[in-house]
Amino acid sequence: MSDLELMVDFYLHIPRQGPGSAKETIKALDYTGLGSLRNLKIADIGCGTGAQTLTLAQNLDGDITAVDLFPEFLNVLNENAQKAGFQNRITTDVQSMDNLPHENDSFDLIWSEGAVYIMGFEEGVKCWRPLIRKGGFLVVSEISWFTESRPAELERFWEGAYAEMDTIENKEKVLQKHGYESVSSFKLPEYCWTDNYYNSIRHYLPSYIGKYPHEKAAKDLVEELETEMAIYEQYKKYYGYAFYIARKS
Ligand code: SAH
Repeated sequence: MSDLELMVDFYLHIPRQGPGSAKETIKALDYTGLGSLRNLKIADIGCGTGAQTLTLAQNLDGDITAVDLFPEFLNVLNENAQKAGFQNRITTDVQSMDNLPHENDSFDLIWSEGAVYIMGFEEGVKCWRPLIRKGGFLVVSEISWFTESRPAELERFWEGAYAEMDTIENKEKVLQKHGYESVSSFKLPEYCWTDNYYNSIRHYLPSYIGKYPHEKAAKDLVEELETEMAIYEQYKKYYGYAFYIARKS
Protein backbone atom coordinates (compact mmCIF):
# COMPACT_ATOMS: atom_id res chain seq x y z
CA MET A 1 0.00 0.00 0.00
CA SER A 2 1.18 3.53 -0.73
CA ASP A 3 1.82 6.01 2.08
CA LEU A 4 -1.30 7.95 1.05
CA GLU A 5 -3.48 4.84 1.07
CA LEU A 6 -2.23 4.00 4.55
CA MET A 7 -3.04 7.53 5.72
CA VAL A 8 -6.52 7.43 4.18
CA ASP A 9 -7.17 4.01 5.72
CA PHE A 10 -6.40 5.44 9.15
CA TYR A 11 -8.65 8.50 8.90
CA LEU A 12 -11.50 6.54 7.31
CA HIS A 13 -11.96 4.76 10.62
CA ILE A 14 -12.47 7.77 12.85
CA PRO A 15 -15.57 9.97 12.85
CA ARG A 16 -13.79 13.29 12.28
CA GLN A 17 -10.47 14.00 10.62
CA GLY A 18 -9.75 17.05 12.77
CA PRO A 19 -10.85 18.77 15.99
CA GLY A 20 -14.39 20.15 16.09
CA SER A 21 -17.97 19.56 17.23
CA ALA A 22 -21.51 20.04 15.99
CA LYS A 23 -22.08 22.60 18.73
CA GLU A 24 -19.15 24.79 17.60
CA THR A 25 -20.13 24.40 13.93
CA ILE A 26 -23.59 25.73 14.79
CA LYS A 27 -22.11 28.53 16.88
CA ALA A 28 -19.94 29.64 13.92
CA LEU A 29 -22.90 29.34 11.57
CA ASP A 30 -25.07 31.54 13.80
CA TYR A 31 -22.64 34.45 13.30
CA THR A 32 -23.40 34.43 9.56
CA GLY A 33 -27.15 34.90 10.02
CA LEU A 34 -27.67 32.61 6.99
CA GLY A 35 -30.00 30.32 8.96
CA SER A 36 -33.03 32.40 7.96
CA LEU A 37 -32.32 32.38 4.18
CA ARG A 38 -33.58 29.84 1.62
CA ASN A 39 -31.97 28.01 -1.31
CA LEU A 40 -28.40 28.72 -0.28
CA LYS A 41 -25.41 27.44 -2.24
CA ILE A 42 -22.72 26.16 0.09
CA ALA A 43 -19.30 24.58 -0.43
CA ASP A 44 -17.62 22.50 2.28
CA ILE A 45 -13.95 22.27 1.31
CA GLY A 46 -11.75 19.47 2.68
CA CYS A 47 -14.90 17.90 4.08
CA GLY A 48 -13.39 14.48 4.90
CA THR A 49 -16.07 11.98 5.93
CA GLY A 50 -18.35 14.96 6.48
CA ALA A 51 -19.15 15.30 10.20
CA GLN A 52 -19.62 19.05 9.71
CA THR A 53 -21.30 18.64 6.30
CA LEU A 54 -24.25 16.88 7.95
CA THR A 55 -24.47 19.58 10.63
CA LEU A 56 -24.58 22.23 7.90
CA ALA A 57 -27.31 20.32 6.06
CA GLN A 58 -29.36 20.09 9.26
CA ASN A 59 -29.07 23.80 9.97
CA LEU A 60 -29.23 25.47 6.57
CA ASP A 61 -31.66 25.47 3.67
CA GLY A 62 -29.94 24.80 0.36
CA ASP A 63 -27.46 22.63 -1.51
CA ILE A 64 -24.01 21.68 -0.31
CA THR A 65 -21.09 20.79 -2.56
CA ALA A 66 -18.73 18.72 -0.40
CA VAL A 67 -15.19 18.71 -1.78
CA ASP A 68 -12.30 16.45 -0.87
CA LEU A 69 -9.27 15.05 -2.65
CA PHE A 70 -9.94 11.47 -1.52
CA PRO A 71 -13.00 9.62 -2.93
CA GLU A 72 -12.83 7.11 -0.04
CA PHE A 73 -13.87 9.84 2.42
CA LEU A 74 -16.62 11.05 0.10
CA ASN A 75 -18.03 7.51 -0.17
CA VAL A 76 -18.51 7.48 3.60
CA LEU A 77 -20.10 10.93 3.43
CA ASN A 78 -22.48 9.79 0.67
CA GLU A 79 -23.58 6.79 2.77
CA ASN A 80 -24.17 9.00 5.82
CA ALA A 81 -25.99 11.63 3.75
CA GLN A 82 -28.25 8.88 2.38
CA LYS A 83 -29.00 7.56 5.88
CA ALA A 84 -29.85 11.07 7.08
CA GLY A 85 -32.07 11.75 4.03
CA PHE A 86 -29.80 14.49 2.66
CA GLN A 87 -28.74 12.71 -0.53
CA ASN A 88 -30.54 15.29 -2.70
CA ARG A 89 -28.92 18.25 -0.95
CA ILE A 90 -25.32 17.06 -0.54
CA THR A 91 -23.26 16.52 -3.70
CA THR A 92 -19.74 15.20 -3.31
CA ASP A 93 -17.00 16.36 -5.62
CA VAL A 94 -13.46 14.95 -5.86
CA GLN A 95 -11.31 18.05 -6.38
CA SER A 96 -8.14 19.60 -5.11
CA MET A 97 -8.86 22.68 -3.01
CA ASP A 98 -6.16 24.68 -4.79
CA ASN A 99 -7.73 24.23 -8.22
CA LEU A 100 -11.50 24.33 -7.81
CA PRO A 101 -13.46 24.32 -11.09
CA HIS A 102 -16.54 26.18 -9.78
CA GLU A 103 -17.59 29.45 -11.39
CA ASN A 104 -17.03 32.80 -9.72
CA ASP A 105 -19.81 33.97 -7.36
CA SER A 106 -21.09 30.37 -7.04
CA PHE A 107 -21.51 30.24 -3.27
CA ASP A 108 -23.30 32.10 -0.47
CA LEU A 109 -21.00 30.35 1.97
CA ILE A 110 -17.66 28.59 1.80
CA TRP A 111 -17.05 26.41 4.83
CA SER A 112 -13.82 24.62 5.69
CA GLU A 113 -12.96 22.95 9.00
CA GLY A 114 -9.39 21.93 9.73
CA ALA A 115 -8.35 21.88 6.09
CA VAL A 116 -7.24 25.31 4.81
CA TYR A 117 -3.78 24.72 6.35
CA ILE A 118 -3.19 22.21 3.54
CA MET A 119 -2.95 25.11 1.07
CA GLY A 120 -1.88 27.54 3.73
CA PHE A 121 -4.37 29.95 5.29
CA GLU A 122 -3.39 32.99 3.22
CA GLU A 123 -3.37 31.21 -0.13
CA GLY A 124 -6.66 29.48 0.71
CA VAL A 125 -8.63 32.59 1.66
CA LYS A 126 -7.22 34.42 -1.36
CA CYS A 127 -7.94 31.65 -3.83
CA TRP A 128 -11.50 30.89 -2.62
CA ARG A 129 -12.70 34.51 -2.45
CA PRO A 130 -13.78 34.82 -6.14
CA LEU A 131 -16.05 31.78 -5.69
CA ILE A 132 -18.07 33.59 -2.99
CA ARG A 133 -20.85 35.94 -4.06
CA LYS A 134 -20.64 39.57 -2.94
CA GLY A 135 -21.64 39.77 0.72
CA GLY A 136 -21.32 36.00 1.11
CA PHE A 137 -19.37 34.31 3.87
CA LEU A 138 -16.18 32.37 4.44
CA VAL A 139 -16.02 30.30 7.63
CA VAL A 140 -12.85 28.36 8.38
CA SER A 141 -11.32 26.70 11.39
CA GLU A 142 -7.56 27.01 11.62
CA ILE A 143 -4.83 26.17 14.11
CA SER A 144 -3.76 29.36 15.90
CA TRP A 145 -1.66 30.66 18.76
CA PHE A 146 -3.75 31.56 21.82
CA THR A 147 -1.01 33.54 23.61
CA GLU A 148 1.47 36.26 22.62
CA SER A 149 4.51 34.28 23.81
CA ARG A 150 5.22 30.55 23.83
CA PRO A 151 7.88 28.12 25.05
CA ALA A 152 10.75 27.77 22.54
CA GLU A 153 10.28 24.01 22.18
CA LEU A 154 6.68 24.50 21.14
CA GLU A 155 7.55 27.24 18.65
CA ARG A 156 10.18 24.97 17.08
CA PHE A 157 7.69 22.12 16.76
CA TRP A 158 5.14 24.29 14.95
CA GLU A 159 7.75 26.05 12.80
CA GLY A 160 8.52 22.63 11.38
CA ALA A 161 4.91 21.50 11.17
CA TYR A 162 3.11 24.63 9.87
CA ALA A 163 4.89 27.81 8.83
CA GLU A 164 1.72 29.96 8.99
CA MET A 165 1.00 29.28 12.65
CA ASP A 166 -0.01 32.71 14.01
CA THR A 167 -2.20 34.54 16.50
CA ILE A 168 -5.95 35.03 15.99
CA GLU A 169 -5.38 38.77 15.61
CA ASN A 170 -2.85 38.27 12.80
CA LYS A 171 -5.06 35.72 11.02
CA GLU A 172 -7.88 38.29 11.05
CA LYS A 173 -5.48 40.81 9.48
CA VAL A 174 -4.79 38.31 6.69
CA LEU A 175 -8.55 38.05 6.07
CA GLN A 176 -8.86 41.85 5.91
CA LYS A 177 -5.86 42.11 3.57
CA HIS A 178 -7.60 39.78 1.12
CA GLY A 179 -10.96 41.52 0.94
CA TYR A 180 -12.93 40.14 3.85
CA GLU A 181 -14.53 41.83 6.81
CA SER A 182 -13.87 39.84 9.96
CA VAL A 183 -17.29 39.19 11.52
CA SER A 184 -16.09 37.19 14.50
CA SER A 185 -13.66 34.57 15.70
CA PHE A 186 -13.61 32.21 18.66
CA LYS A 187 -11.47 29.45 20.11
CA LEU A 188 -12.61 25.85 19.90
CA PRO A 189 -12.92 24.41 23.41
CA GLU A 190 -10.62 21.61 24.49
CA TYR A 191 -13.24 18.83 24.19
CA CYS A 192 -13.18 19.34 20.40
CA TRP A 193 -9.65 17.88 20.43
CA THR A 194 -9.84 15.43 23.32
CA ASP A 195 -13.35 13.89 23.33
CA ASN A 196 -14.10 14.38 19.65
CA TYR A 197 -10.75 13.74 17.96
CA TYR A 198 -7.82 12.38 19.98
CA ASN A 199 -9.97 9.87 21.92
CA SER A 200 -11.12 8.25 18.69
CA ILE A 201 -7.53 8.20 17.42
CA ARG A 202 -6.33 6.54 20.66
CA HIS A 203 -9.16 4.03 20.46
CA TYR A 204 -8.38 3.04 16.86
CA LEU A 205 -4.54 3.03 17.04
CA PRO A 206 -4.12 -0.56 18.37
CA SER A 207 -6.28 -2.06 15.57
CA TYR A 208 -4.43 -0.01 12.97
CA ILE A 209 -1.03 -1.12 14.27
CA GLY A 210 -2.30 -4.72 14.22
CA LYS A 211 -3.51 -4.30 10.64
CA TYR A 212 -0.19 -2.99 9.26
CA PRO A 213 2.53 -4.43 11.49
CA HIS A 214 5.21 -4.30 8.76
CA GLU A 215 4.44 -1.02 6.97
CA LYS A 216 6.94 1.72 7.78
CA ALA A 217 4.58 4.51 6.71
CA ALA A 218 1.91 3.22 9.12
CA LYS A 219 4.45 3.17 11.94
CA ASP A 220 5.58 6.71 11.08
CA LEU A 221 1.98 7.95 11.06
CA VAL A 222 1.34 6.41 14.48
CA GLU A 223 4.51 8.02 15.88
CA GLU A 224 3.57 11.38 14.40
CA LEU A 225 0.10 11.23 15.93
CA GLU A 226 1.48 10.22 19.31
CA THR A 227 3.93 13.15 19.28
CA GLU A 228 1.19 15.56 18.23
CA MET A 229 -1.14 14.33 21.00
CA ALA A 230 1.62 14.58 23.64
CA ILE A 231 2.49 18.13 22.52
CA TYR A 232 -1.18 19.10 22.73
CA GLU A 233 -1.53 17.65 26.22
CA GLN A 234 1.53 19.54 27.43
CA TYR A 235 0.98 22.87 25.67
CA LYS A 236 -2.74 23.22 25.01
CA LYS A 237 -3.01 26.55 26.78
CA TYR A 238 -0.77 28.12 24.11
CA TYR A 239 -2.54 26.98 20.95
CA GLY A 240 -5.59 25.32 19.48
CA TYR A 241 -8.13 25.72 16.73
CA ALA A 242 -10.10 28.90 16.19
CA PHE A 243 -13.10 29.53 14.00
CA TYR A 244 -12.94 32.58 11.70
CA ILE A 245 -16.20 34.00 10.40
CA ALA A 246 -15.60 36.47 7.57
CA ARG A 247 -17.71 38.28 5.02
CA LYS A 248 -16.63 39.08 1.47
CA SER A 249 -16.41 42.86 1.35
N1 SAH B 1 -13.33 18.88 7.59
C1 SAH B 1 -13.06 17.52 8.06
C2 SAH B 1 -11.72 16.99 7.59
C3 SAH B 1 -10.51 17.81 7.97
S1 SAH B 1 -8.97 16.97 7.62
C4 SAH B 1 -13.14 17.50 9.57
O1 SAH B 1 -12.99 18.56 10.21
O2 SAH B 1 -13.35 16.42 10.14
C5 SAH B 1 -8.48 17.68 6.08
C6 SAH B 1 -9.22 17.12 4.88
O3 SAH B 1 -8.68 17.72 3.71
C7 SAH B 1 -9.07 15.61 4.69
O4 SAH B 1 -10.32 15.03 4.51
C8 SAH B 1 -8.22 15.49 3.43
O5 SAH B 1 -8.55 14.35 2.64
C9 SAH B 1 -8.58 16.75 2.69
N2 SAH B 1 -7.56 17.16 1.71
C10 SAH B 1 -6.22 16.99 1.75
N3 SAH B 1 -5.64 17.56 0.69
C11 SAH B 1 -6.64 18.09 -0.06
C12 SAH B 1 -6.68 18.82 -1.28
N4 SAH B 1 -5.57 19.13 -1.95
N5 SAH B 1 -7.89 19.20 -1.75
C13 SAH B 1 -9.04 18.91 -1.10
N6 SAH B 1 -9.05 18.24 0.08
C14 SAH B 1 -7.88 17.84 0.59
